[in-house]
Amino acid sequence: MYLKNSDNELFQVIQKELQRQQSHIELIASENFVSLGVLEADGSVLTNKYAEGYPGKRYYGGCEAVDMAEDLARERVKQLFNVKFANVQPHSGSTANMGAYRAIINPGDKVMGMALDQGGHLTHGHPLSFSGIDYEFYPYYVSKDEEVIDYDDLEKKALEIQPRLIVAGASAYPRILDFKRFREICDKVGAMLMVDMAHIAGLVAAKLHPNPCDYADIVTSTTHKTLRGPRGGIILTNNEEIAKNVDRVVFPGIQGGPLMHIIAAKAAAFKEALTDDFIEYQKQVVKNAKVFAEEFMNLGYHVVSNGTDNHLLLLDVLSKANMSGKKAERLLDDANITCNKNTIPYDTKKPFVTSGIRL
Ligand SMILES: *Cc1c(COP(=O)(O)O)cnc(C)c1O
Repeated sequence: MYLKNSDNELFQVIQKELQRQQSHIELIASENFVSLGVLEADGSVLTNKYAEGYPGKRYYGGCEAVDMAEDLARERVKQLFNVKFANVQPHSGSTANMGAYRAIINPGDKVMGMALDQGGHLTHGHPLSFSGIDYEFYPYYVSKDEEVIDYDDLEKKALEIQPRLIVAGASAYPRILDFKRFREICDKVGAMLMVDMAHIAGLVAAKLHPNPCDYADIVTSTTHKTLRGPRGGIILTNNEEIAKNVDRVVFPGIQGGPLMHIIAAKAAAFKEALTDDFIEYQKQVVKNAKVFAEEFMNLGYHVVSNGTDNHLLLLDVLSKANMSGKKAERLLDDANITCNKNTIPYDTKKPFVTSGIRL
């Protein structure tokens, strides 16, 4: 309550957001509500500390406590995803992806990623993203009829393109990702496999989705989506060579001092994710999403891919309600329900208008 007295103007702004979060139903698939423990670490005095480098090898004195925080985060996340090496310093999912690319490929290399208007993320080759500028990206697609990834077509395209890397993972894909098949395709064309599990990390942690660490050369994630931690990123790998590259590329390659308060909050979130309570919570998330999808289908809506295996669904609002995603988002907002418009596969409307919403 310090701000209330020292800076009431800002205090009121934060209160306004708190009230919004408490009075609205939040259906944005990439958001979550952290625990008070995560919030406490996030807002702790660790924000005062400079700690360039890694535990035991810092460029600053006084790092004894923050070293322990980073070690806790690394050990816990390795246990959580059953993986040998972890870098917990990326400030965000996008930064984690930049680090991963730089650790394993070179500028100009060919990369395949999921089409951005079918679920892929900006950092999977958007022309305005560093990814699309630094690397030569080629999209793969979902099939028109089933609206799931067309692995046969991906294999055919990969054989033609001969990419150095294939990226699996998406921001708006409601189905299980077949990492085994991705790996087989990569092996067939001599490509590496990177999995960006930003959206599904919580489900993976709860073993409700296959673990990409068993298949991929490198795995990235955000920590703030289904994983329910602070805003940030991680990079994981079982390959020691790659792990060394990752550490060098993240610092000093693309970042300076790590956000030690956020790394502490990551440690808090990873500990929570290791509990039975968290597994129960993720089970409920998946169950709720399924029921949600089924009820919309009962009402005659087209739900992309006819349902969901994970935490999200894509609802086609154009075909049933003759409404754009943009309008649906606004009308729902008027009813205190927050969601985002989203393109659906083979959308006829522009990304700023769209035919769907993501829930
Ligand atoms: C959210 C997301 C990211 C980026 O995360 P930021 O923290 O917003 O930079 C990267 N990849 C995927 C698949 C995502 O969904």
